[in-house]
Amino acid sequence: MTNKLKYFIGNWKMYGDFSSLKIIHQIQHFCIGFKKYNKKNKIILCVPNTLIYFYATKIKSKFISIGAQNCHHHQSNGPFTGSVSASMLKKSGAKYIILGHSENRSEGDTNQSIKRKIGSALSQKLIIIFCIGETFNEKKEGKTFSVLRKQIRSSIDKKYNLNKIIIAYEPLWSIGTGKIPKVKELKKIFKFIKNEIKKIFKTRYLPIVLYGGSVNQNNIRMLSTISEIDGFLIGGASKSSKKFIDIIKNYYK
Ligand code: PEP
Repeated sequence: MTNKLKYFIGNWKMYGDFSSLKIIHQIQHFCIGFKKYNKKNKIILCVPNTLIYFYATKIKSKFISIGAQNCHHHQSNGPFTGSVSASMLKKSGAKYIILGHSENRSEGDTNQSIKRKIGSALSQKLIIIFCIGETFNEKKEGKTFSVLRKQIRSSIDKKYNLNKIIIAYEPLWSIGTGKIPKVKELKKIFKFIKNEIKKIFKTRYLPIVLYGGSVNQNNIRMLSTISEIDGFLIGGASKSSKKFIDIIKNYYK
């Protein structure tokens, strides 16, 4: 139950400016030298909208792609002050987009609005990194599986192209807290997500499912033992080229 490529995706959130290009250059330099593994990895950096065009034009690397972090659900232009559409992001050079992040859900995104965003981003040929995850209370109450099932069923339309959707399991209680689920729990959850996708879509396609939440250069060794995990969505640690590179290096140690 595993995919061949390993994904290391950085979510820069609301950090970074033009000078942060050096972080990407350092990661690129590392990739070029990391010969044994660089073909097995997919590195994507999801940066603030203000930096997408600049980075996408500066970084011509087969190892690194640039992504966005959110978009408006409306497909075409419209009176939505402060928002950007999937089409604008695509034209700026984004290839990927994070949707359904818990930080956006806490600001009003719902399973329904996320479904529209996914549809809109797919229509622009962006690859989706769709975040799902339970709160600490939901976990305590034994609701993890039902929450994940609902998030998947209500946001992924059966007509969407699954090949273009990467799922990121990010328990909310783990984001930015230093806490991560136990290996046993993760194995169960990843099997559940992959089976659920098979059931809903009546497919044999094996979806790409990532783990996100406090991934760092130390806990990656433990996470690397879980073969069901196809890669990682990395928040805090992706803002430092050293930490991000150490995560990749330690994954293969
Ligand atoms: C995230 O925000 O997607 C994330 C995984 O953050 P962190 O790695 O900082 O927990």
